[in-house]
Amino acid sequence: MQIQQRPHSPSVLQNSVVVFSKNYLPMSRINIKRAITLLITGQAEPVDITQSAVFTVRSPSVVLQVPEHIRLTMTNPERLWKVPPVNRREVLRRDNHSCQYCGVTKSLTLDHVIPRSKGGLHSWDNVVAACERCNSKKGDRLLHETDMVLRHKPKAPTHPAVAFAEQFWKDQTDWNTYSGS
Ligand SMILES: [Zn+2]
Repeated sequence: MQIQQRPHSPSVLQNSVVVFSKNYLPMSRINIKRAITLLITGQAEPVDITQSAVFTVRSPSVVLQVPEHIRLTMTNPERLWKVPPVNRREVLRRDNHSCQYCGVTKSLTLDHVIPRSKGGLHSWDNVVAACERCNSKKGDRLLHETDMVLRHKPKAPTHPAVAFAEQFWKDQTDWNTYSGS
């Protein structure tokens, strides 16, 4: 995800706006029409961040200035979110539908990093997506008994808002580095 669109993009309505919670946590990216609704109804207000862009939206009767960053003015009802169950669908989603040993995206199975026969748990930090080939190559062995290496250390999925916030601040840093001065 990149911070795209600086001024003069072909259609201003294709831009998106970052929404912060009342406590200034970046929460999500929404389209500009939704942002206009929140601003007009007083549910959100502009946030002043250095290098924020302002989008000018014109209709026949009105010209609106929509900032790139807005903040909700009311406490956002916390959405209930629980760590998803460890099942095939959720594990493949977390692992981007790729084998965590070789990276292929076909014939995927679930592998217990520490085999169940050796006390490994069916838990987020012990289950990864693995292709059939890697799974049978590894067999019933522990990882250090093989020459295989995990591409990522498995862990439970992060709350979507937390994941968004982490990515947002990373993008801000990248952008500031990129823009130089
Ligand atoms: Zn593989």
